[in-house]
Amino acid sequence: MPETVLAEQELTAQERQERGERLRNEGVVIRTYDLWKSYVMGDQEIHAVSGVDMEIKRGEYVAIMGPSGSGKSTLMNLIGCLDSPSRGLYYLNGKLASDMEDDELARIRNREIGFVFQTFNLLARASALHNVELPLIYAGVSAQERLQRAKDALQAVDLQKRMDHKPNELSGGQRQRVAIARALVNRPSILLADEPTGALDSATGVEIMALFERLHSEGNTIVLVTHEADIAMHAHRIIHIRDGKIDRDEAVRK
Ligand code: ADP
Ligand code: MG
Repeated sequence: MPETVLAEQELTAQERQERGERLRNEGVVIRTYDLWKSYVMGDQEIHAVSGVDMEIKRGEYVAIMGPSGSGKSTLMNLIGCLDSPSRGLYYLNGKLASDMEDDELARIRNREIGFVFQTFNLLARASALHNVELPLIYAGVSAQERLQRAKDALQAVDLQKRMDHKPNELSGGQRQRVAIARALVNRPSILLADEPTGALDSATGVEIMALFERLHSEGNTIVLVTHEADIAMHAHRIIHIRDGKIDRDEAVRK
């Protein structure tokens, strides 16, 4: 699948930029070339992600699946621009994220990525509406537009009737829907979800997976990280990872 990695590493700055533009024109939102993340622990080096070549196009719904410790969260942190690779290249929507400093990385992250976490990560004392509005405050959107967009996002997850409720006045599934609305409100290029059903009972998990399916059919690009095969089966493609490497990449027949 990849052009040879060595050739990629040897590209000049100008060629890398042209490569980015080409990827973007081809609708490639995520492209990694020989991506590594290594940690030194005492006298040992742990390669949490070791040589990943991955391509995800706009509009795809992909699960990254692997057992505990296989490197899923590390890979998600790299894709989500929460961390920088030890080695390799990462193009996010045509921009070379692997070259970016922290502040630039934070900016591209806010613009391009909507995160959904296992434990929702909502502000406990804020209403659903305010939780969803927060990313827009950081993005400098005016109060009036913020309110409208936050309401629209809550409507998209069928929670408009609960917008004044605080997280502890909502069920687990409703909290996760608020978190999904918050992830979508910036109209990100990718919705990135790490074990989004991990803290939910199975019936609620199925409900959340149905919501992802609908959001995908509405044009969103979704990357779902999970260790559960039956959750991964909801995606349209599964990238299996093991020991920090891609083990298998399969289309899911629907
Ligand atoms: P998963 O999410 O699939 O369970 P992780 O990405 O959390 O896997 O971890 C992959 C491997 O990298 C594990 O062996 C883990 O112990 C190691 N690892 C992850 N983060 C760190 C870190 N900050 N320092 C050292 N080792 C780490
Ligand atoms: Mg993990």
